[in-house]
Amino acid sequence: MSKTRITVVGGGLAGSLMAVYFAKRGYEVNVFERRPDMRKADISAGKSINLALSARGIRALEKVGLKEAILSEAIPMHGRMMHDEEGNLVHQPYGTEGQFINSVSRGGLNVQLLKLADENPDVHLHFNYKCVSVDFDTATTTFVDESGNKLTQEADFVVGGDGAFSQIRLRMMKSGRFNFSQDYLEHGYKELTIPPTASGDFAMEPYALHIWPRGEYMMIALPNPDKSFTCTLFYPFNGPTSFDTLKTKEDVEAFFNDKFADSVPLMPTLVEDYFANPTGSLVTVRCYPWVKGKAALLGDACHAVVPFYGQGMNCAFEDCVILDECIEEHNGDILAAFDAYQKSRKANADAIADLAIQNFIEMRDLVGDEEFLRYKKVEHNLCELHPDLFQSQYEMVTFTNIPYSEAKTKGAQNTQLVKHIIKNGLEDKITDRTFILDILNKRDTLTS
Ligand SMILES: Cc1cc2nc3c(=O)[nH]c(=O)nc-3n(C[C@H](O)[C@H](O)[C@H](O)COP(=O)(O)OP(=O)(O)OC[C@H]3O[C@@H](n4cnc5c(N)ncnc54)[C@H](O)[C@@H]3O)c2cc1C
Repeated sequence: MSKTRITVVGGGLAGSLMAVYFAKRGYEVNVFERRPDMRKADISAGKSINLALSARGIRALEKVGLKEAILSEAIPMHGRMMHDEEGNLVHQPYGTEGQFINSVSRGGLNVQLLKLADENPDVHLHFNYKCVSVDFDTATTTFVDESGNKLTQEADFVVGGDGAFSQIRLRMMKSGRFNFSQDYLEHGYKELTIPPTASGDFAMEPYALHIWPRGEYMMIALPNPDKSFTCTLFYPFNGPTSFDTLKTKEDVEAFFNDKFADSVPLMPTLVEDYFANPTGSLVTVRCYPWVKGKAALLGDACHAVVPFYGQGMNCAFEDCVILDECIEEHNGDILAAFDAYQKSRKANADAIADLAIQNFIEMRDLVGDEEFLRYKKVEHNLCELHPDLFQSQYEMVTFTNIPYSEAKTKGAQNTQLVKHIIKNGLEDKITDRTFILDILNKRDTLTS
């Protein structure tokens, strides 16, 4: 019997991982990637230089045997390190003891996934091929190479892992009866660098995600294995305080000296980086269905989210796990699996999209706020004291595989509970398990 043939469009994070999952099931996989081979060419992996990898992503990598290799090069970040305008620092743990997120290189991770895919003789990687069309009934895709030559690929099924501006999704839209929304934040992002110190060390605490919350905007920094940090400024595109108003070297220097003064001595190439690096946009994409004929969407192609919960890639990797599980459950009936996958994922993708936007407000606005810090302290204590009774929303999203939609609902209830404790001055009672059980039972009627 000939093998089932699957064309994967996009050899980014989700596409290359899904290719590995398909090949493990004995399918023949052809991956087509628009960009050159990252293993050979020194190209940017696009978007951010580094990413926060957490439980869902780790589980997906573990299932293909890549967990240890990736984590051995990752830098654990145990909490948020907040920088106020005077340069004072406050550390806020992400979870309980032993819970942390991991800073990983996007390029390094993508290269490892491509290498793993390539080790399987049933995976064929094709670079510099841009998908231009797809026939959903026949699973035939058409690509163009750099010289404009066309290539037609036949298969049994197609998976579109071609990112937030997916060609496969565009074709689904054009084919009709397809719901789609695309929302841009008014903020863009720009990456900057804090290099290692002269003695070759990290210039700031390495095991934390640094945040400079400034109300309407913020800067963050994640550590890299070469002891540098990649900073990302999230700032409005237009308006009185915006990228638009930072036109000259003097504008940039004055802005950073005023708002991020403690970072300026650490960024010797600030002005050069600022003008050399592009300003990226931030988009939330929602759509449905994720399946048309013999094709399905995966990752950002069906649910691009803003990066403030550090979950876009983790969610895309979780897609791979769930699709693989659906194939298992449906005994290799891929069309049935596609349908089960889209039904199980859609509500979760919507939930993490909402949570990611909420977290932007939390990060830029609240993390420096006294009341918020008090809230976080109570929440943290509840997690530490009663781990079997109480999990924060961040913990559920980041350190568990609880479906995102459930984490969103339970998280909102938990927020009510913490607010109730604070409003009624009950902080000294939280060590009392009976008290916690009692208010958990009354959760639906609590006032805050
Ligand atoms: C600033 C920023 C920071 C982020 N930080 C985090 C984080 O900390 N943690 C986290 O989990 N997520 C983070 N994300 C989200 C994460 O980057 C995405 O969710 C993730 O890259 C999705 O993977 P993907 O494979 O679906 O898409 P992509 O990584 O975009 O891959 C798509 C691939 O398809 C290729 N392609 C596109 N069109 C075609 C075509 N027509 N033909 C062939 N190939 C094509 C592209 O070249 C690319 O290689 C961040 C995103 C941004 C913008």
